[in-house]
Amino acid sequence: MSPAGYPIPRAAYIHVPFCAHRCGYCDFTLIARRDDLIDDYLRALEIDLDRLKGRPVIDTLFFGGGTPTHLSAEQLRRLTKIVLGHFQLADGYEFSVEANPAGLDDAKIAALADAGVNRVSLGVQSFDAEILVRLERDHRRRDIVSAVEHLLESIGNVSVDLIFGVPGQTLANWKGTLTQAIKLRPTHISTYGLTFEKGTQFWNRLNKGELRQASEELERSMYAAAMDQLSDAEYVQYEISNFARPGFVCRHNEVYWRGLPYFGFGPGAARYINGSRQINHRSVSTWLKRVFADDSPIGEIDELSAEDGARELLVLLLRRCEGASKQEFQQQTGFDIDELAREAVDCYTGCGLLEETDTHIRLTREGRFVADTVFVDLL
Ligand code: SF4
Repeated sequence: MSPAGYPIPRAAYIHVPFCAHRCGYCDFTLIARRDDLIDDYLRALEIDLDRLKGRPVIDTLFFGGGTPTHLSAEQLRRLTKIVLGHFQLADGYEFSVEANPAGLDDAKIAALADAGVNRVSLGVQSFDAEILVRLERDHRRRDIVSAVEHLLESIGNVSVDLIFGVPGQTLANWKGTLTQAIKLRPTHISTYGLTFEKGTQFWNRLNKGELRQASEELERSMYAAAMDQLSDAEYVQYEISNFARPGFVCRHNEVYWRGLPYFGFGPGAARYINGSRQINHRSVSTWLKRVFADDSPIGEIDELSAEDGARELLVLLLRRCEGASKQEFQQQTGFDIDELAREAVDCYTGCGLLEETDTHIRLTREGRFVADTVFVDLL
């Protein structure tokens, strides 16, 4: 516990904001075709990490992006050395790195394995060449197969991200992608419906009529197919978008969904410490300038009231298939779920979207299709 009584973070997130190209649907914090900034980024990250007090012990470490493996093997070795110089990994740690199949060569995989990385999350999205082109991804099926096989051999724990609801994608095409992903036997599979975020190329093209969004009915059938096919293949759904073989849930993401504290470094990275959520500047150049000038890289501070924090936690807990434990929720927030949300819980249990036991409240399978609607009423 910190002197103020808050738990000390046992998780850290490092944002690596580089990609070869910005895919049309992506609104993450990143900078494309500016590899000349990678050295500056590594120097700034080290300066920012030097502000940490001591060398905290953490259970989970996550490098996300962008594409961390867009860095060269030598740069990846520098990055892991810098970060591990500032954090100690506890026994039984989970160290995850996001990667893209394109360009993930043996030297990069060796750099990750040598640093103790024991989980890789691979941005596969689809096995279909046409869908990959539509998503502006620069890998093809053979790159995916080779990357998953090599990673399973050298790292062991490999997650695959897939996207459904891509313009022009049929249900049969999506089912084919699921079948091919399952055949490779990754330890974990995440499935996301494509969203059109304001400001992205896809958003502009949608508004100009150049792209057509999948119908709600088709998206629903695709999500149902994911739940059915993955469960038949013994992947257990543990969160709205996440499925794992036994023993392979992502422990780092569980930290977010349980409302536990975490460190965050790099442009756009969020941290949750002492009850306050802070988000670094999203612009890579602003983040670099501020760190080099010894200014704070924090762009936003989110101080939620105790009640708003409790409502937000309830929604995060409900993302998990296990749902919210009434007793743990009360202990963690000081609020009783009855006080906060009895009316909405009764309404949604009445129509079959939530279910309630003596100890827990959770989404039903039907509720997972419309989770966002349920969550709006709980916030
Ligand atoms: S590779 Fe991933 S992070 Fe990079 S632009 Fe494409 S979707 Fe975004």
